[in-house]
Amino acid sequence: MMNYPPLIGFSAICPVNPVADDQIKAAASPVLEQMIVDSGVVRVLGASSAAVAAFLRFLYRCPDDPMEEEEEEALLALAHAYRVPWLKRLAEASVAARLNAERAVDAMKLAALCDAPRLYMACARLAGKDLAAVQASEGWRFAGRHDVAFQLELLQLLHDADQRKERWERVRASQHVYRQLSDAMALLDRIFFDAGEEACAEASPPCELDGGVRRGLEQLMRHFAACGRRTRKPVAACPRCRRAFQLLRLHASVCDLAGGEPCRVPLCSNLKAKMQEEGVDKTWKLLVKKVIRARVMSALANREVPEVVKKSWAKYNSRRTARFR
Ligand SMILES: [Zn+2]
Ligand SMILES: [Zn+2]
Repeated sequence: MMNYPPLIGFSAICPVNPVADDQIKAAASPVLEQMIVDSGVVRVLGASSAAVAAFLRFLYRCPDDPMEEEEEEALLALAHAYRVPWLKRLAEASVAARLNAERAVDAMKLAALCDAPRLYMACARLAGKDLAAVQASEGWRFAGRHDVAFQLELLQLLHDADQRKERWERVRASQHVYRQLSDAMALLDRIFFDAGEEACAEASPPCELDGGVRRGLEQLMRHFAACGRRTRKPVAACPRCRRAFQLLRLHASVCDLAGGEPCRVPLCSNLKAKMQEEGVDKTWKLLVKKVIRARVMSALANREVPEVVKKSWAKYNSRRTARFR
């Protein structure tokens, strides 16, 4: 909930009392308070009388009053200059709510001058979505004639945002690949665990979601087991065997079974010993690290959340929603 100045509304009870009048202004703004203490006179320079009237109307009355479109920009500037944070937030939200391509450039300049980051970002987002419409506005043409630096700044901002988006998409795509590899490792464990179980009843239940991937992996492993014997070719000569071998090698790198415990995945202990003896390159180490991280993240995402934590999250979210309503 916002903290409104305590004396707002007092003038309705005592509208002609000059002491109360000063108290209201002083309570609303530390800048006005200082002016009243220093000279007893408040001079608002550089603003139209209509803007000052609107400013005082908001200071005196309930701040839930509707804000007119023609006064919101002046109110934002005055609230910033006289340090009235609640009015600044209202005016900033009001300008942002009525934002369009025609007003975006002026609103962005105002946001920069008044240190209003939410409005600034709203303008930048709008320009990012429809730059052509913003470039057709009078504000943009005016900036072209008088403030080229602003145009450059906006274009640079959009360029940086595009680059950030591309970078983020690349990161997400690579995370998806590591997640798939981590899932493939879990499936390999399950396939060979099930194959090693004598009693079918004790095998782990098949998961509907990974059915297709599991079948593909099983076929690949069957091919790997048969191909070398049938064709008598080395692993490197067959692309499917090469793929299967890389998966088995990755399994050996992430397999965390303790030394004495036998692993049912083929070649696991041989490949572990070989890698330990010969070492692995940096790229492989990085791949292993990222697959392990994806496995940990996946386990965290799938874990059962305790009831008490669920309840406290629900409570927190309902309070948060009420605060922003
Ligand atoms: Zn093969
Ligand atoms: Zn293993």
